[in-house]
Amino acid sequence: MMDLKGMTIEELQDFFKSLGEPAYRARQVFRWIYKGVEDFEKMTDIPKNLALKLKEICRVSRIKIYRKFESKKDETVKYLFLLEDGEIIESVKMEHHYGTTVCVSSQVGCAMGCAFCASTLGGFRRNLTCAEMVDQVLAIQEDLRKRVSHVVVMGSGEPLLNYDELMKFLRILNSELAFNISYRRMSVSTCGIVPGIRRLAEEELPITLSVSLHAPSDDLRDRLVPVNRRYPIMELLDACKYYIIKTKRRVTFEYIMISGVNDSKECAVKLARLLKGLLCHVNLIPLNPVRERDFRRSTFDKIEVFEEILKSYGISVTVRQEMGADIEAACGQLRRSFLNEVKK
Ligand code: SAH
Repeated sequence: MMDLKGMTIEELQDFFKSLGEPAYRARQVFRWIYKGVEDFEKMTDIPKNLALKLKEICRVSRIKIYRKFESKKDETVKYLFLLEDGEIIESVKMEHHYGTTVCVSSQVGCAMGCAFCASTLGGFRRNLTCAEMVDQVLAIQEDLRKRVSHVVVMGSGEPLLNYDELMKFLRILNSELAFNISYRRMSVSTCGIVPGIRRLAEEELPITLSVSLHAPSDDLRDRLVPVNRRYPIMELLDACKYYIIKTKRRVTFEYIMISGVNDSKECAVKLARLLKGLLCHVNLIPLNPVRERDFRRSTFDKIEVFEEILKSYGISVTVRQEMGADIEAACGQLRRSFLNEVKK
């Protein structure tokens, strides 16, 4: 049956037109859907006979909270969701002084094969639909009984390889009739899909672009982030420059600190030279060790030295504060350990 969740206002208008209904029905139903109402009969401004007719021909989908893990250290909560086809995905809720952030997944599993990441271990299963991305935010909002202020697409999956559904999702988040979240409060994180970055730039929306750089040279990045063999660092940085010109937004570079791999002074200097003059910010992330990978996180001292070198080159840099480490909040970890448990 046709799912009305995830449709744009325009698509809904066409749908209601085809039923011989006025266009404003689209706005009414759209509003209800993102208030979390799935039952047409509970949409109080929809006439009873129309509600009954809708029930027969279409539906409003909903993903279910399957498990919930609350951190004892901070207010981080990790959710596992059960999708209609039985797949499991994860999302994370974090509290900051500026508001409540939800980190959503964009795919089930991941195909990118990054050397340090848990999401890719079980391979790629499928893209998420726009409705499934929206539902992660909606379900968490309902569970918290509080509005989500920021959304980051940094969960499992590569969002720019699910471009059309991603864009519909971001537009619904932005819609005044739905979540009314400004684009400035949304981030999209990519491992460096160059055509996707250029396409996103063309939208000219003030979305924050995060790029998972993790290495200052192609030989090292080829090993850590294999997609680099297809889109090497110079092409990636060119696309980032284009993004900055088009959106006038500063790009964030994520840099995981892995002991003995990418955390040397030489790496810091190379990185600084690479990024000098670019409107950007560097986020140093202490690696979250993944059971199946034998990488270790850099020591605090190493991270500090690395940070100071970047600063001395005038590069804006912060060390990401860790949240929810006790609940395996890093990319794909929770789903992974859950699936392992089920197998046993
Ligand atoms: N595919 C996108 C978004 C998902 S990954 C991307 O690559 O950006 C989100 C972020 O988590 C990326 O920066 C990724 O490199 C990082 N990440 C993955 N595994 C990690 C780990 N074990 N510890 C710390 N960060 C990790």
